[in-house]
Amino acid sequence: MRYLITGGAGFIGSHLSDLLLEQGHAVQVLDDLSTGSLENVTHLQEHPHFRCTVGSVADERLVAELVADADAIVHLAAAVGVRLVVERPVRAIETNVHCTEVVLAHADEQQKPVMVASTSEVYGKSEALPFREDGDLQMGATSKARWAYACSKAIDEFLAMAYWRERSLPVTVVRLFNTVGPRQTGSYGMVVPRLVGQALAGEPLTVYGDGRQMRCFCHVADVVGALSGLLSEPRAAGNVFNVGSTEEVSIAELARRIVEHTGSSSEISMIPYEEVYGAGFEDMFRRVPDIAKIKSWTGWSPSRSLDEIICDVIAEYRGAQVELP
Ligand code: UDP
Repeated sequence: MRYLITGGAGFIGSHLSDLLLEQGHAVQVLDDLSTGSLENVTHLQEHPHFRCTVGSVADERLVAELVADADAIVHLAAAVGVRLVVERPVRAIETNVHCTEVVLAHADEQQKPVMVASTSEVYGKSEALPFREDGDLQMGATSKARWAYACSKAIDEFLAMAYWRERSLPVTVVRLFNTVGPRQTGSYGMVVPRLVGQALAGEPLTVYGDGRQMRCFCHVADVVGALSGLLSEPRAAGNVFNVGSTEEVSIAELARRIVEHTGSSSEISMIPYEEVYGAGFEDMFRRVPDIAKIKSWTGWSPSRSLDEIICDVIAEYRGAQVELP
């Protein structure tokens, strides 16, 4: 298959490129390098079936051309990271909504199947744990910037489902929960690379709030395995799938384990949310996916533990001298 991956030079996109190439497919990446980086794909530059185009998904002519040359599209390009969304909401909303419109319109014109990446943020403040794909979404007020991200991705999902229902375009939506692993940068707020970087630099680990908020972190290698399973399952079209780990950890405990695995002498420092994100910031207390659906459709479930994830990220920082956040 020839895959077009928007956002393919990003953290998840570059790992998906690796996997699809390994499986014998051809990969064309389109990335504007806003949060992605050519470094993520330099090791693929010599691959005979890999191409990377630096450009915007908003460039309709370019998208039309690349869609014409592809058999299927994976749309990962999006504004990511709570920090980016809170600091630059206009760009985040416009990128998320407009780029998905462009991709779906061109895929529809050429009847090419699309996978659209969404996010566990869409569940918002829902307390119906674990989150099921058909559960209600609960957003906060429009005056709070964080919810713009959830809403923009929810619109992407509605649009994707509308193309499926109204135009029979084969579209699959994946709701990605916290994904971590090598190549993830801490620059946009993501907690694991930030805390690992701080621990290795001997700086205090910044735990926001009281650290009792819980997350489930999934290794990126598991996540791209899930995407690849869904890409080869034609019945997935018209469906939404959660993709994530179900191993819950509090952020305070995460920090403690990172200190332990790095052998760092850093302290753990609790910082009020307002100091980081401004007044009125709302965080989710818990976020756990129900992954029964993807498991029953493709047999997928994550195989790497949180400790393995932490060790992988530490090894990458140590081995590659990655710039500390
Ligand atoms: N967080 C933290 N310290 C940091 C960065 C993030 O305590 O330096 C917290 C953040 O407030 C959230 C959790 O870690 O409760 C996960 O944050 P991340 O941005 O990685 O993903 P989110 O789940 O918010 O999308």
